Amino acid sequence: MTPPKEKLIKDHNAFQNWMKTTTTTPLKLIHVRSVDHIQAVVASTDKYPSPIRPTGSILSHTDIHSNDGGTTLLMSNMNKIYGIKTHRYARKRDDGTKKVEEVVCIETDPCATLREIQLYAQKYGYELPFSAEIGLATVGGTIFVTSKDSSIGKSPIYGSGLGDIGSCVFSFTVVDEIGNLCQYNLFDEHGEFDMDFQSMLDSHGTQGIAVKIFLAVRKKVPVTIDIHIAERFGGDSSDIAHCIYNTWRNASSNDGNVFAAIGCQSGFWWLEERIPTANKPNQQAPLSRVLSPILLWLKNYIFERCHMISPLRWLSCLSGSMWLRLKLDSRPAGFSYNKDIPDNERKLSFSNCAFPTTSFVDVVTEGLDFVRAYKLKYGFEPHALATIFVEQSGKRLAGGYHRKKVSKEDTHTFVFDPVHQHPKDPEWHKFLDSFHIWQRQKGGVPSITQSFRIEHQDLAWGSLAVHGKPSPRFTNNFIQQFFDAKK
Ligand SMILES: Cc1cc2nc3c(=O)[nH]c(=O)nc-3n(C[C@H](O)[C@H](O)[C@H](O)COP(=O)(O)OP(=O)(O)OC[C@H]3O[C@@H](n4cnc5c(N)ncnc54)[C@H](O)[C@@H]3O)c2cc1C
Repeated sequence: MTPPKEKLIKDHNAFQNWMKTTTTTPLKLIHVRSVDHIQAVVASTDKYPSPIRPTGSILSHTDIHSNDGGTTLLMSNMNKIYGIKTHRYARKRDDGTKKVEEVVCIETDPCATLREIQLYAQKYGYELPFSAEIGLATVGGTIFVTSKDSSIGKSPIYGSGLGDIGSCVFSFTVVDEIGNLCQYNLFDEHGEFDMDFQSMLDSHGTQGIAVKIFLAVRKKVPVTIDIHIAERFGGDSSDIAHCIYNTWRNASSNDGNVFAAIGCQSGFWWLEERIPTANKPNQQAPLSRVLSPILLWLKNYIFERCHMISPLRWLSCLSGSMWLRLKLDSRPAGFSYNKDIPDNERKLSFSNCAFPTTSFVDVVTEGLDFVRAYKLKYGFEPHALATIFVEQSGKRLAGGYHRKKVSKEDTHTFVFDPVHQHPKDPEWHKFLDSFHIWQRQKGGVPSITQSFRIEHQDLAWGSLAVHGKPSPRFTNNFIQQFFDAKK
């Protein structure tokens, strides 16, 4: 197939990420229309200069999209969801025999958003177990990088983890470096977890462009969400850390989970305890119907604009009561944030770092004390710190969900992300540069898509997030520097 005649107007090829912290001008910026088209572009090395970088919704806030002089593919036309079907696969059991199992999957193009996929699944009585706050992100833009959500319930595929999109992927097809199609499956022909598949999950698109994806879904899981709001008082770091940890332990023992945002400037913290309703029966939620739309609207605003509105602290008297309880038939689909917020308005900026949950109390206590000491010294504090808990599979080869050694006690990862309302604020940048040093000392693992300013740290730290053998056809300088730092 012949690629279409794109307009090669260099000056018009510039684009920015959501936070407007990166601007790049690829030599060629192409709206791809089909798998054939992508194959043709990748195979035409003379016409389309390397590296070739696909885009999802361009939400990543590092320089991962930087591609001056290269070829960037805008994938937004490839956003069809094809349907839901049951798949059979062979799986090896502990005694060495193989068993045929079934999993229900949704088949999708790479540029369908997580929100579109979740709404589609829910329409048919299913849900994607991963339901992050962000709904705008695409499946193609998340499967090979970091993602996170305090998910609940059980994984539809036993042993594949829960709480990132990678844990839902059953199979995908990529266009490889010479333009051929190549399929990767979660299980190999022996019924074991396929390690090439696992390697791709942390490849950051350096080995292929995902063009077709099968995501495992499950029947909708009704959920009960208790909202806790508590005012912050001086010297309360350890109390907050213990409270979140104990609530998570308790929720987790009921297949539930916890999301928390610890406000600094707002003077209160917010905790959502999410438990499958079947494991928490007979709980009254008299305001659920009225509260759900209000709360979703409020959360959308709070996240998009990074604004934990101070008067919300007055609700602390209702904290954890039935008046702040929701009962939903499935986790809500992620939010569809405003795509173009000007620099002079509030908008979310954050930096991701993952730690083993076994260090939760230590890390969160010390982290909150770090923030307090920093404020005293420099007069700056982030808006809040957010925590999310992800169940690891034990199979991941890099990033925050990888473990050198898997132990029975260390089953989950938590992320501990400072958030701020002005992505370009120099004081925020200064704060992050020193907070990252502390995070690294505490054994945290960053992300090269979600840890803002990661390239300003020792690159060996960021190299913990990447895996595999990058192809020069797909690898830009930003990503290459982290692979180089691995050597
Ligand atoms: C306001 C806001 C809120 C957020 N909240 C959350 C949250 O709750 N949870 C969470 O996990 N993350 C969150 N994020 C981070 C965001 O989800 C991730 O950065 C995600 O990777 C972005 O998806 P995207 O579709 O925009 O990908 P992009 O940023 O467009 O791309 C990410 C990477 O994937 C590559 N890529 C894109 N498409 C393909 C493809 N088809 N094949 C191969 N590689 C491809 C790109 O080249 C790039 O390297 C948030 C971000 C913002 C801005």
